[in-house]
Amino acid sequence: MKIHIVSHPLIAHKLTLLRDENTPSPTFRSLTEEIVSLLAYEAMRDIKTQDVKVKTPVAMAEGAQLTKPSPVVVPILRAGLGMLEGMSRLIPTAEIGFLGMVRDEKTLKASTYANRLPDDLTNRQCYILDPMLATGGTLVSAIQFLAQKGATNITAICILAAPEGIAALEKNFATSKLSFKLVAGALDERLNEKGYIIPGLGDAGDRLYGVG
Ligand code: URA
Repeated sequence: MKIHIVSHPLIAHKLTLLRDENTPSPTFRSLTEEIVSLLAYEAMRDIKTQDVKVKTPVAMAEGAQLTKPSPVVVPILRAGLGMLEGMSRLIPTAEIGFLGMVRDEKTLKASTYANRLPDDLTNRQCYILDPMLATGGTLVSAIQFLAQKGATNITAICILAAPEGIAALEKNFATSKLSFKLVAGALDERLNEKGYIIPGLGDAGDRLYGVG
């Protein structure tokens, strides 16, 4: 299991705006897309390519092209949907699957309420989108769900992560055969008693979709 907290001044700048409670929903949405594109760029450093030749107007050149089958991008509904545009901009040929997960606000346990994914994820590079890695319950369940469909190569892209969420991932996947990588924009301090990331940015879904 690999953890990559991306340190980049542009991400830090955009994250600061995203955290600000006065940032309105439309700005929050576009900042989320921009941050996801920057994180996705890092997350896809090891995306599989094959060598190809291409004819320029003046000569042949050695090039690279993404291999088939195409990667699968899996936004976790609801808030992960707000990350999809930023991801698709970088990799428009990816197949998109959906996973609906909800956490019980009392027990903080995650359950799946919808899924639209390829039946077989063997040999597919999978990218899970979930903005907030809090307790880790949702992400652990999502990874297990994809692994049951044959996925062995999974990267999660999160905007913010809490130490508790990383500990949950380590507990479940540190010794697993799964190739798993977490790419996040920042590692925050802790969770509060309601399971919110501190300092965090509040409820990502509510802020994306203008609720409250
Ligand atoms: N989900 C959110 O939207 N925000 C948090 O701080 C934690 C989980």
